[in-house]
This record gives sequence, structure tokens and C-alpha cells, in this order.
Amino acid sequence: MQQAKRFNRDSFLSWEDRILADYAVHASCSKGRRHPEQDHPLRTAFQRDRDRVIHSRAFRRLEYKTQVFVTGANDHFRTRLTHTMEVAGIARTLSRCLGLNEDLAETIALAHDLGHPPFGHCGERALNRLLANDGGFSHNEQAIKIVDELEIKYPDFRGLNLTFEVRAGLIKHRDKATSLDGITLPQQPILEAQVADIADDLTYLCHDLDDGINAGLLTLTELNAVELWQRAGQHGHALPPDNACFASFRVRNLIDLLVADALNESRNRIQQAGIETPIAAESYSSPLIGFSPEIATAAMDLRKFLFRRMYEHPAVDDDNQRAVRWMCDLYSFFLRYPQETGQLTQQRMEEVGVKRAVADYIASMTDRYAIEQYRKFID
Ligand code: MG
Repeated sequence: MQQAKRFNRDSFLSWEDRILADYAVHASCSKGRRHPEQDHPLRTAFQRDRDRVIHSRAFRRLEYKTQVFVTGANDHFRTRLTHTMEVAGIARTLSRCLGLNEDLAETIALAHDLGHPPFGHCGERALNRLLANDGGFSHNEQAIKIVDELEIKYPDFRGLNLTFEVRAGLIKHRDKATSLDGITLPQQPILEAQVADIADDLTYLCHDLDDGINAGLLTLTELNAVELWQRAGQHGHALPPDNACFASFRVRNLIDLLVADALNESRNRIQQAGIETPIAAESYSSPLIGFSPEIATAAMDLRKFLFRRMYEHPAVDDDNQRAVRWMCDLYSFFLRYPQETGQLTQQRMEEVGVKRAVADYIASMTDRYAIEQYRKFID
């Protein structure tokens, strides 16, 4: 009879040493946590971080936050949560096929949108305007703040106390002065973070297209003029246009095409640059994970097409704009009546000021909670 396997953290660490590429970040080389903790007997530091993200309140709230359509508009459209899960899946495939650390890439992908306020990018722009003279608002910075400060569940520290690698991986936009815990960050994020980033771009292009078709906003006739749509039709098995699965299968082919292109291009770049360590990847002059130039241009065209025909379409934009007006009204209301916010927010007002504490409170809201609060206090 076969003996039951006994794997644990030590086996996973040695497995990483045997299997992962030299340019991958091995969990045994993590720079650690802000508050030192004992290693877990079963999981590596990154596996543990992934679980911490999934068990966070901010992660659960993603279910009721807008991706493109205000949540509840249709049960089949993506929410921030299903978007995040699709990103994580693609990040895992890409990192596994590149010999990168799948646990790390997956964790960064799962956490990448934790900082999104309600009502998607419209909500983010509105908060940024409201805080224009007080440091602005960006969902990337907010994600770090959530995992470092705003999640409260451990007795000895605030936040989730994630590893340095996951936290740094959430900082996408960098200049020479960008730092974390006083350490200046290299020009490029680690490859696992670059993988999560391209997985995000790839995923939203494909699923927004899918939702746009299902919402009846995008017609197959106009899509025929979009280069990536045509290319996807020549990629793999094609269905006749009258087949019930025609559009969703074409989107599936597009995902496959983009993943294959990103893998191929990234492998070439890593090889040509002679990258052999994570540090070499981080200090390289340009990103090593990317699409080929032709596909990158075609992806940009698809993005512009989606903006014109979908994101700015009245069926999408009107709902979001109305929701954003409600959000701005809520912001003014809570500035005037701070006692109507939560207890934690009121405590934070003393530390970070009323405006920032209220903005963090509103940013944490789901679409439906924000609407509920609007109806309760203002409408
Ligand atoms: Mg995203």
C-alpha cells in the first residue's frame, strides 16, 4: 500500500530550489515581515500571505465592487472579485510556465485591486479630485495601506503583516525616490509582480469585451474591425458565427493568444538580457514581462475601442456618474458629521485627519453599502 505523503514548508522550500528558475524569488530568500513572526510549519511565507489576503475583509468586499458595470446590474457581469480571480489564474499560468514563484505571483494578483473604491475607476477619479489638495487618492497606494494598516485582525500588529515582496509587488508606479520601509525600490518590480500586472491587463481586456458583448453594447460587426478580434478568430479552432458559443469562444481564443504571446516575448527578453537573479530583473532598464510589439499595439487599440464604445457608453457611464455624485455627497456629509462613520474611522481621524480618515472609509465601501449609506443619510 502506498504511504500517505507528508509535505510541509521544508519540502516546499526544497521543491522551490529544485524547480524554480534562478531569476524567481524563492520563499527562503524573502526579506521578511515588518513584525517578525515564527515560520508556519506547513506553508511558505508566500503561501501564508496568499491565505491572509483571501481571509481579509477587503478581499471579501471585492464581491460587491464595480468592475465596469455597477454591481447588481446583471448577475453574469464581472465584479472586482471575479476579475481578481481571473487575474490570479492567468498570473499562475504565466509564472508557472516561466519558472517563477507561482505562490508569490498569485498573492500579488489577489491583492492587486484591494484598494479599489466603490464604482470602479469613476469612483477612484472622484476621490482623487476630492483629495486633490490633500495627497490625492490612488487604488495602488490604497492597497498597501489596507494590507499594512487598515485590516485589523491580529493582536500584535495592524494590517496583515505581509512579506516585503508582496507589499513591494503592489507598488507599480515607481520613480527614483519610491521606497518601502525606508528601502529605495529598484526601477522594476520583481518578475512575479510584472506577471500579475500583465495578467491584469490581459484579463480585463478579454472579460470587458465579453461583458460588453453580453450587455449588447458591442456588436460583432464593429468588432470585426478590431485587429485582436480578427487575430483571435485565426487562433486555434474557429466556430461559425451562428454558433451559440461564437463570441465567448472567440474571447477564449483571445485569452489563449495573449497568454502565448506574453510567454514567448517574456522568455525572449529574459534570455536576451541574460537575467539570472531576481535582482538583475529588478534593476533592468525596462520590464521583462510583456507582449510582443505587434500585440502590444493591437492591445492598445482594443483598449481605446473599449473606452470609446463601452466605458464611455451612456449605459455604463450614466450609472457610474450618478453613483459618483452620491459618493461625493457622502464625503461632504461625513466631513460634517464624522460621528456617523464607523468607530475605527473615528479613531483614525486623530491620527490622519478627518479628510483622509473619511476618504479611507468611503474607499472601503462596497457599491451597495455606499448606496445604502446615501439613502440613509442624504436621499
Ligand atoms: Mg485589476
